[in-house]
Amino acid sequence: MRKLSDRSLTLQDSIFAHMTAVCSRYDAVNLSQGFPDLDPPAEILARLRALTEENCHQYSLTSGAMDIREALAAKQKRFMGMEIDPEKEIVITCGGTEALMMAAMAVVDPGDKVVVFSPFYENYSANTILCGGEPVFIPLTPPTYSFDPERLEDAFRAGAKALILCNPNNPCGKVFTREELLLIADLVRRYDAYVITDECYEHIVYAPYEHVYFATLPGMRERTISCSSLSKTYSITGWRIGYTIAPPEITERLRKIHEFLTVCAATPLQEAVIPGLLADQSYYDELLRIYTAKRRFLLEGLDDIGIVHNDPHGAFYVLLDIGKYGYESDVAFCEDLAAKVGVGAVPGSGFFREPVNHLIRLNFAKREETMRAALDRLAGIDKMMRR
Ligand code: GLN
Repeated sequence: MRKLSDRSLTLQDSIFAHMTAVCSRYDAVNLSQGFPDLDPPAEILARLRALTEENCHQYSLTSGAMDIREALAAKQKRFMGMEIDPEKEIVITCGGTEALMMAAMAVVDPGDKVVVFSPFYENYSANTILCGGEPVFIPLTPPTYSFDPERLEDAFRAGAKALILCNPNNPCGKVFTREELLLIADLVRRYDAYVITDECYEHIVYAPYEHVYFATLPGMRERTISCSSLSKTYSITGWRIGYTIAPPEITERLRKIHEFLTVCAATPLQEAVIPGLLADQSYYDELLRIYTAKRRFLLEGLDDIGIVHNDPHGAFYVLLDIGKYGYESDVAFCEDLAAKVGVGAVPGSGFFREPVNHLIRLNFAKREETMRAALDRLAGIDKMMRR
């Protein structure tokens, strides 16, 4: 038989799905794949129940039902401080995942170079490759995870057409400063490039750090496809509701791509999430309070055990240094950690382009009792994992 496509051949199995499978094999406490075990807001669940009696079981408009787009435009206006035309500048997508794929398809032609900061969420390189493009990785260097402006400019000098910006960053929790973002904006303007953001942790940024929406920087709105998701904000990762915000000409392309990929996001779920979008500031304050407490709980627990880790400024992940255990492969380490200690983590090599094998990622989007159980098990890590 003739061979299948080269593009599909380059894809690897997702490390998240693999680690969740490993966790269930060993009945490990799963702090690998990042999803909250908080309950979604009661209002959206009540609305979901009520919707079974209403007539919303067919396709919505491709860009999304008008009422969710209006509610989203109003919410994002509050947070981003800019007017957004729900008619022409929003597409409701099947999760942030589809939004990011659509954005790549709208911007990247075969052979185009796309800047991706490393560590990175695996979809950014996969999406670029599926579009026939070539990711160009720029390292974020610990402990501040800052980048070398010269190296970034070199990438643009070499013709990079777009940059994918995950802010706050999964997995290192970096929150880009305004100065860093202005520096990126300056290069993007000078080299006539686009920015695709992934801002799905926009509401999970710990004081004193603050989230700056890239599209709000001077001159950046026309060059930015803002991708985000309602998954983390309302604890509904399984609903697959995300969105793009972009200028009308770009949104027009995104809408057509979305039409051919999925037609529309699930209509009842679009409707059900609206009470979430209408929530006032107290909802976001409470969400942040909850995550601040969870972050503290896990980080202090790790400190008590003596496990060295980074200091995440946003999102809900922490990187642990496992260098002292002497494993050559962090994947083997994570498999042993699940089997022997009973805790599920994601190997850092799944995120870094550089040859990093001394880091693993845990997430703290979990109930305290879940994290307590993981910490109790991790207390025995030195005895169980020493080689
Ligand atoms: N974004 C989540 C994480 O980083 C889930 C990823 C996934 O399941 N593909 O863990």
